[in-house]
Amino acid sequence: MKIEYHQYQLQLKDTFRISHASRDVQPSLVVSVSHDGVTGFGEAAATSYYGVTVESMMKALQKVEQIVENHIEEPPEIIWEKIYPELKTETFALCALDMALHDLYGKRKQQPLYKLWNLDPAKVPQTSYTIGIASTEEMIRKIKDFPWPLYKIKLGTDHDIEIIKELRKHTNSVFRIDANVAWAAYQAIENSHVLKELNVEFLEQPLAVDDLEGQKLLYQNSALPVIADESCIVESDVEKCAEYFHGVNIKLTKCGGITPALRMIAKAKALGLKTMVGCMTESTVGISAIAQLAPMLDYVDMDGALLLKNDTATGVKITSEKVIYPSENGTGVKLFKFE
Ligand SMILES: [Mg+2]
Repeated sequence: MKIEYHQYQLQLKDTFRISHASRDVQPSLVVSVSHDGVTGFGEAAATSYYGVTVESMMKALQKVEQIVENHIEEPPEIIWEKIYPELKTETFALCALDMALHDLYGKRKQQPLYKLWNLDPAKVPQTSYTIGIASTEEMIRKIKDFPWPLYKIKLGTDHDIEIIKELRKHTNSVFRIDANVAWAAYQAIENSHVLKELNVEFLEQPLAVDDLEGQKLLYQNSALPVIADESCIVESDVEKCAEYFHGVNIKLTKCGGITPALRMIAKAKALGLKTMVGCMTESTVGISAIAQLAPMLDYVDMDGALLLKNDTATGVKITSEKVIYPSENGTGVKLFKFE
């Protein structure tokens, strides 16, 4: 067994701005795990907002290489249990490794993961394409440059409704709104009624994580479904969200990979919550893993690779009409320049 680390600087097509950050370059780590002549790949984006760097992820993963080696013949969820105690606070690193182990597992079983999970790829929901915060003219330009049936619009300015009214003049596509905790409850309730009329499908995490009273109020009075993102990080959050949200957006890097994500999706469904998996700014390695889960979800946000100028691999391809799964097994990923 051999674990290798591949560092990338992903270049964004456009400066990406949300309510609390902006960036042009996204550092990313791809982990490869090779065994018996087969290699699996996993990815996690370094995110300064969470204090995660490529170096910190590599350092964390080096601690568990021996454990992985000792259990390499076992299924990825078993290996996850063995490495989790060491990587509890390093969920991004844990995610990259768990993803690589899933890819390796599928490739060794000679099946794509969605097949191993008995999913029908025809049932994959349409992915949204994200429009970051910019001047309204710039946001209109981005929409015109990238015609797409479903946009996720990042908000959190002092003129959010005006932006959506303006964008609505230029496209009939469905909008989802992600205010990244920038709104207050009364404002979110009011906005939900206006936005519903503007063909908005749902609101993603408009309120601060600790504003439980506001979340309850919004949950009861919103004209649109409210989906948790910042409030749904790890497995134990799913149950808490059932009282305050209509659905949850699960991120593989935040929960620690495919293994916990599968359990979170099952839990959310059992609680009657809508399920979504979202991406970070990540390349085709990470996106192809999310795409394996997509047929079991209500919503999916896997536009990461579409927002990039350069990519790391071939794998699942997302078009405005469909998701194209490659013939490769596992997550379907083949890293460029990997022998
Ligand atoms: Mg979000």
